[in-house]
Amino acid sequence: MAARSQEQNTLPVTYSVDVLVLGGGPAGVAAAVGAARAGMDVMMVERYGFCGGMTTAGMAGAICGLFTSSKTNKPEQLVHGFAGEFHHHLKTRGAVSEPYPFGDTRIVMHEPFVWKEIADALLLESGVTVLFHTFFSDVVMRDGRITAVVVENKNGRQLIEAKYFVDATGDGDVCFKAGVPCTFGKEGVVQYPTMVFRMNGVDVPNATSHPGHQVEEWVKAANGHGYHLPRSHIYILPSPRPGEILCNMTAVSREDKHPLYATRAEDMTWAEFEGRRQVREYERFLRDRVPGFENARLNDVAPQIGVRQSRTVTCRGKLMNQDVFSARKSERSVAKSAWCIEAHGADGIFMFYLQDDYYDIPYDTLVPAPVANLITAGRTLNAEHEALASARVTAQCFLMGYAAGNAAAIACRDDIGFAAVDVAELGPFIDYRM
Ligand SMILES: Cc1cc2nc3c(=O)[nH]c(=O)nc-3n(C[C@H](O)[C@H](O)[C@H](O)COP(=O)(O)OP(=O)(O)OC[C@H]3O[C@@H](n4cnc5c(N)ncnc54)[C@H](O)[C@@H]3O)c2cc1C
Repeated sequence: MAARSQEQNTLPVTYSVDVLVLGGGPAGVAAAVGAARAGMDVMMVERYGFCGGMTTAGMAGAICGLFTSSKTNKPEQLVHGFAGEFHHHLKTRGAVSEPYPFGDTRIVMHEPFVWKEIADALLLESGVTVLFHTFFSDVVMRDGRITAVVVENKNGRQLIEAKYFVDATGDGDVCFKAGVPCTFGKEGVVQYPTMVFRMNGVDVPNATSHPGHQVEEWVKAANGHGYHLPRSHIYILPSPRPGEILCNMTAVSREDKHPLYATRAEDMTWAEFEGRRQVREYERFLRDRVPGFENARLNDVAPQIGVRQSRTVTCRGKLMNQDVFSARKSERSVAKSAWCIEAHGADGIFMFYLQDDYYDIPYDTLVPAPVANLITAGRTLNAEHEALASARVTAQCFLMGYAAGNAAAIACRDDIGFAAVDVAELGPFIDYRM
């Protein structure tokens, strides 16, 4: 089989590395740093001019998944490793809140700009070559392996060669192009996206004092009085900046409630228009109807619509809903999680909290069967719909990414495919503490 198409034969090869990471969200940053610290020559390609993906471009605003969950005991930090390290750097910079109650667990709110700075520093310190403003578009394959990828930037179309590839695009772009079967949500129904925004000039103690059910009732009541607020279960979260609230409130779908796909430009265009329209509607609602917001102003809107779910990559293993419900442990774990199932859909948000326990995310949920030198990490892991609605959050994406990067280093050292990596060797990287 020809390795390259006629067009690809004419493209220049601009870089040749051991490990190429596509995408610079939490999973991609962790993968690149993990592989580079393990001694690999690593490159990371990112379509924007900064890292963070949904945590910065989507302004998710908090690290979820660090803590245990309990109705009776005080939640404690469960997850360490690269997630703990990143949290430590945010703390050192004064850019993260103290643990804050969220249902039966805790989250920490962070400052997106500092998130980007920390990612820059970690990538540069570990020796990763970073190429921003560069879009992955295709793969070159030979004998069931990827030999190079086609990327495009203002320099033009070009090839980057590597021995091992990490798909951290959040959308499974590389896996899809390499012919790995992918699915979308539950029978095609993915979670709704959200346009996140921040309000300042808020009386924070007052604004955060209202019980959730009370706020939900205010939203529903407002809908009968000239407002159009599609989501009533909204999150009012204090940001690390004084007088500022992180608003995770909007819920974007087609008018007939049909979900939107991040892999369709037309859907994402609609989502951006509709997300911005909803931001103004929720802003009006907050100022008019929620005590504490009377003098607040719209301060910051996410640069892009926040996508919770896109392609799920079919892998050698799959995280099942029952694994989450029954807190299943695995000897092939790359990450622990006690984060709730938090599935945003047409009927609101389905929530389920584990109590004083956690489940494991197995390595095999990241390894696509057909392509020996390709691994995925982050929210593309192979999982059933509700299980994914738990495993997708930042702390776990950090750990999945770091494991994928270290797996790439082991595979490269031993000249083997990802499926043959000894998971026991990843153990020390998963739970280290700063
Ligand atoms: C609205 C919203 C709120 C959320 N709130 C929270 C929260 O409070 N706490 C929490 O922990 N989690 C939250 N999440 C979840 C969390 O932010 C994401 O699941 C996490 O960021 C996923 O990480 P990732 O690295 O897998 O993917 P992403 O964060 O999506 O990163 C993918 C990266 O790849 C890049 N990329 C994509 N395609 C290409 C391409 N073709 N070429 C080059 N680059 C490409 C993107 O620009 C991006 O930087 C939220 C998500 C959303 C949408």
